[in-house]
Amino acid sequence: MQRDVSSTGCPNEKAASQFTIDHPDLVLRILPRAVPGLPVPRVSMGVAIPGEPGEFGAHAYVYYDRVLHAAEFCKCDALRILGHAIAHEVGHLLGLEHSTSGIMCADWSMSTLVHMSRCRILFSRDEARRMQSNVAARVLQRALPDRRSASRPAPVSPVNR
Ligand SMILES: [Zn+2]
Repeated sequence: MQRDVSSTGCPNEKAASQFTIDHPDLVLRILPRAVPGLPVPRVSMGVAIPGEPGEFGAHAYVYYDRVLHAAEFCKCDALRILGHAIAHEVGHLLGLEHSTSGIMCADWSMSTLVHMSRCRILFSRDEARRMQSNVAARVLQRALPDRRSASRPAPVSPVNR
């Protein structure tokens, strides 16, 4: 994953702006709030945008105001929830669908959020294996651009969290 450095607000932004992104595989932006017009449920902390048919998804967003709201609601550590939200959206970009439990669960209950604030919620072994396979397919696609449709996992469907 490459870092979006266009609006980090970090003190080293000048130095970071010299880092160019010419062919990003994945771009995740942390936005202050949801962008109007995107079909994102009000409770979702982010969204992963699927690729065009036959292409990989590359862009995901996490909405910081919703992360803060969830953290305040459950009196949890916002940065830990933010980290889990980022991992969830990157999981979608790497081919994962929602699961019934774990970090790819679509609905994070209050107890899940509290658990996140105390320790990490991880990807399952199968989810990790599928993400690794997706990364390998992306690398292969880059190395063999004329074989873009070969051995590629199904594109990620529209997802929200
Ligand atoms: Zn999701």
